[in-house]
Amino acid sequence: MAELIDGKVLSAQIRSEVRTEVENRIKSGKRAPFLTVVLIGEDPASASYVKGKAAASAEVGIGSDTLTFDASISEKEVLDVISRLNADQKVDGILVQLPLPAHIDERKVINAIDPAKDVDCFHPQSVGNLVIGIDGFQPATPAGIVEMLQRSQIPTAGKHCVIIGRSNIVGKPLANLMLKKGIDSTVTVCHSRTPNLPEIARQADILVAAIGRANFVTADMVKKGAVVIDVGINRVEDATRERGYRLVGDVDFEAVSKIASFITPVPGGVGPMTIAVLLQNTLKASNKQD
Ligand code: NAD
Repeated sequence: MAELIDGKVLSAQIRSEVRTEVENRIKSGKRAPFLTVVLIGEDPASASYVKGKAAASAEVGIGSDTLTFDASISEKEVLDVISRLNADQKVDGILVQLPLPAHIDERKVINAIDPAKDVDCFHPQSVGNLVIGIDGFQPATPAGIVEMLQRSQIPTAGKHCVIIGRSNIVGKPLANLMLKKGIDSTVTVCHSRTPNLPEIARQADILVAAIGRANFVTADMVKKGAVVIDVGINRVEDATRERGYRLVGDVDFEAVSKIASFITPVPGGVGPMTIAVLLQNTLKASNKQD
């Protein structure tokens, strides 16, 4: 039976480390790091993520505010907000909650953020730094996964890491992190056009599922003793729950946990790590601005 990698415990460790560093900053006469979140429109999921980020910031002593705008705000107005935040010396990190309404070009908005304040690590300069291995902000979900592996003492050097999914927020940045010197995995990225995906998945020492399909990874796709990281968050109907659904990952947890050596649960796995890395990034941003 696989050992569970508990994202709640590991994320609490990171948050406590960040809290100590923030306290040390303040003791040495510096101000607390400060994160500004920009939330546009009424999407309930986005509103709940933003609330979570504000609460997690407060818990570690990071100041934050959320600028909320109606979905009708123009692209120009959003760009003006970003440029004001770029110039504001008390703002260390800027996070624009995605997705944005269709009339606003997400890329233009992300590109407008000062790379020194790009705590989401979505700006092309941050992505470029990641690819060539220059130290900078970490992409939140992928870096959360690496933290999970390292804090669970799972060896990565020379291991075959197979990532299913090639998105800009998970699959691609994770591939770059796993390739980095010091992590040193051999990386394969599979996606919707990969014909022999189960065969490749079975070769993985570390298998990461970032697809967005419930129970996509079945037991026959996993090598005995593999480490399985489940990034997916999917709603499946569940009449026994008051809200009518429950959250599951991309991995058939019950069957795969009988074969894997380590596995992450959903919820309580990768999810909590993401916010912890955002806090690390905000702290890093404030240290850079000193
Ligand atoms: P995305 O939709 O941008 O990308 C999905 C990827 O899966 C694509 O690259 C696609 O090629 C691949 N894919 C889709 N169908 C496939 C198939 N049949 N076979 C092989 N590959 C297939 O998704 P994303 O933003 O990377 O998110 C993936 C999942 O991870 C979602 O469930 C999302 O909610 C979740 N997620 C969780 C966190 C977290 O913090 N836990 C963070 C980000 C995303």
